[in-house]
Order: sequence, then C-alpha cells, then structure tokens
Amino acid sequence: MLIDRENIAGLASLPEPSEADVLLVLKSASKAKGLSLEEAAILLASREPGLAGLLSRRAAEVKEKVFGKRIVLFAPLYLSNHCTNGCRYCGFRGGSGGVARKALSADEAVREAKALEAMGFKRVLLVTGEDPRWGLDYIVSCVRAIYERTGMRIVHVNAPPMDTGPLRELKAAGAGVYQSFQETYHRPTYEEMHPFGRKKDYHFRLDVMDRAMEAGFGDVGIGPLLGLYDYRFDALATIAHSLHLYEKFGAHAHTISIPRLRPAEDGLKEVPVRVSDQELKKIVAVFRLSVPSAGIVASTREPAGLRAELIHTGATQLSAASRTSPGGYAGKEASLEQFSTTDHRGLAEVIKSVVDEGLLPSLCTACYRTGRTGGDFTGRTIAGEMEKFCQANAVLTLKEYLLDSCTNGTKESIERAVDKGLAGVADQGFKKALVEKLDALEKGERDQYF
Ligand code: SF4
Repeated sequence: MLIDRENIAGLASLPEPSEADVLLVLKSASKAKGLSLEEAAILLASREPGLAGLLSRRAAEVKEKVFGKRIVLFAPLYLSNHCTNGCRYCGFRGGSGGVARKALSADEAVREAKALEAMGFKRVLLVTGEDPRWGLDYIVSCVRAIYERTGMRIVHVNAPPMDTGPLRELKAAGAGVYQSFQETYHRPTYEEMHPFGRKKDYHFRLDVMDRAMEAGFGDVGIGPLLGLYDYRFDALATIAHSLHLYEKFGAHAHTISIPRLRPAEDGLKEVPVRVSDQELKKIVAVFRLSVPSAGIVASTREPAGLRAELIHTGATQLSAASRTSPGGYAGKEASLEQFSTTDHRGLAEVIKSVVDEGLLPSLCTACYRTGRTGGDFTGRTIAGEMEKFCQANAVLTLKEYLLDSCTNGTKESIERAVDKGLAGVADQGFKKALVEKLDALEKGERDQYF
C-alpha cells in the first residue's frame, strides 16, 4: 500500500521524543543514506529548540556531502490557467468567475522562454492547469517549440496526472522531470478540498508517479501543499511516497517541493492549518535527511530571508524571478497570477544572494542530458558520487552566466564565487579537466559540462 493512512497517522502523532532518541536518529542521518519513516517521525515530533538547531546543521552537512555547495536555480513558465478542477485553495479553479483566462500559444511560450533565456536561465519548468482543451498535445507542442526555437537546455513539466500512454508521449518530447503534487495525502481532506473535476480522484493522482516511471520518466517531482492538513502527516506521507518509488523502481523522487499555501485571488482566504517558518525549516531538514538524493525545492512563495535560511537547512533548488501568470515574463501579465509571490527579485539578485550566503549558484542541466537519471542518479547520490559533478558544473554554468548574462554590480562577487568553486574541487585530475572546460568557455565555446 502506497499510503498506509493508519500507520502514518500513528507516526504523525508521536509524543515529544527524548533527547537521546533524537540524537540517535541524527547520528544515523549523518551517514547520508536516508531514514526510515519511524526515524523521520521522531525528528518531526521534536519541538526542542536546541535540537532544532542541531537538526538544521545536520541537514546542511548531509546536503553538502551529497551535492556540495551548489544551489540550482530555475524558473517556472505558466502555460495556461484554464482549469476544470475545483481546488478550493486555487485562484485558477474552474468556475472562478473573476479570473481572466489565458493559454499561451506555442509562439507565446517560446517568447516567454526566450525572455527567461535572456536573463540567463537554462532550465524551465512548464506549469499548466487541467483542461482537456489544453491537454497533452498542447503541452507537447510547447515543449517541442521551446527546444527547437530557444536555447533552453532542459524543459521540465508540472502537468495534471495522465495515463501511461500520454506520459510516454510527454517523455518522448524531451520532458525532463515530470512533476505533480498530491497537495494533501490525507484522503478526507483531499476530497473536501477537491470537490469536482478529474482531480477529485485521489488515487488517479496518487498513482501517477508509478505510471510516469512505467512510461520512462526516471525523474519525478512530488510534494505536499503545506497548510491543507497536519504537516507531520503530509511530510511523512511524502517520504513514504518516495520510499515506495525507491522500493518499486529503484529511484527516489527526484525532487520534493515544499509549497506553503498562500492566499490566492478568489481562493481560500484562510490557511486551514498554518505551518510556521520554524516548522517549514524542520520539514525541509527532515526531507533532506530522509531522502538525501532528492532536490528540495523552495519557491518564491517564500520571502527572501527565509529562502536564505532554507538553503542552509537542506534545500537545494530555488525558483527565481517567478511570475505565476501565463505571459508574465515577456508580456508582464501579472493580473492572471495563480498566487502572489513574495520574493520578487530577478535572477541576478538571487544569484548574488546565494553567493553572499557562501554557496554556489548553479544553472546546471547536465544529469538529464547525460543519462544520470532515475535509479542511476539515486544510486550515485547515495554513494556520494554526485558532489564533484555538481560542484564542477555549477562553476561552469556560473562562468557562462558571467560571460553572457551578468550585469555590472554583480560581476565581482560572481567572479570570486567561480574562483572559490574551482578551488573547492579536491580531485586534482577532475580539477585539471574543469580548468580546460573553463578555458573553452573563455574562448567562446558554450555548454560545457561533466
Ligand atoms: S550535476 Fe546533476 S545533480 Fe548536479 S546540479 Fe547538475 S544536473 Fe543537478
């Protein structure tokens, strides 16, 4: 059973554990091999402030061990806000009268991707609502057009659950990660929040990652929408979901996102179960320690200061410069937003802020294009083999950004980050190869990676 509700509910209501129990789990977590559901539940049950600091530090250590200092940056591209589902918390929901609807044409999607490319982005996440009029063929046409007519190196897709056949077509079009969030794994709450539309079917959504893997997606992205139900239940269920994929397919979830419910225009006015900043940090740390190979994704829903804390607590990916409206980059269609973002900074500012935090911003897309995906990626990451690739590819993409897209005012700090990143490569043979690739970039070649 993918989600054993009774078992997870029991674990989600464990009493405050003893300090000794928490320390024992943290000791086991330091091996960076992951945690059992029971161990994750002990960490989530702990409310002791002193232990919270230790938990964050352990998560940061494990993150550095598996992925080095790199923090991957990407942008979402909203294709369409047409939707026939009734999600009570979403401004795009069907029947939401006041919302202006828009579906980008393939040409418009290309224009949006080019606007992101001009900022320096190399990876984009296409996001779309659920409406059969803008279904698989539409999404595939946008994916293909972006690959054919822009310099985007990888296109990921966040799209409604589909059957295996359509997922196979999406994969064949070149989609990298397939992402779909369960929102809440707690079925009664799920049913209350999704009163109509195809999304009403809890199991069709829950099982989509199995179908995606059967369709050839090695990399899938999961996540709860925090704030709909008790966070301990949904965090444990998310970990259980990833463990299920690992047991069945040999690959953990490639990414785990941590969106917190925010008021949407015409959506819920109140968050049903608020998740505090401290709780969000704890969730990120527990995800990092439980599923060390997963990218933990923090979005611009969260304010800049908190995002800076989250990247020191195990988060590894940040969206940047996000507009949650179709046409929001090239056309500035802010009035069509799905939800309001909090971190409004552009890519250059986010890059600089990551550097200022002593970390290494990365625009890398290498693994998706070299076949380090699925079980291979999970295996290498758990074995500790990814850190050197991530570090070197971050240096290369940052150098390329410096040469092509960097604006005055950030150049010096980015140059220093490139030098520091290079100095941080311990393997001398690998370092020599990295220097050669950096030279190639200087000479005008592009898209260098390991
Ligand atoms: S090397 Fe792979 S895991 Fe590391 S940043 Fe690049 S794509 Fe991601």
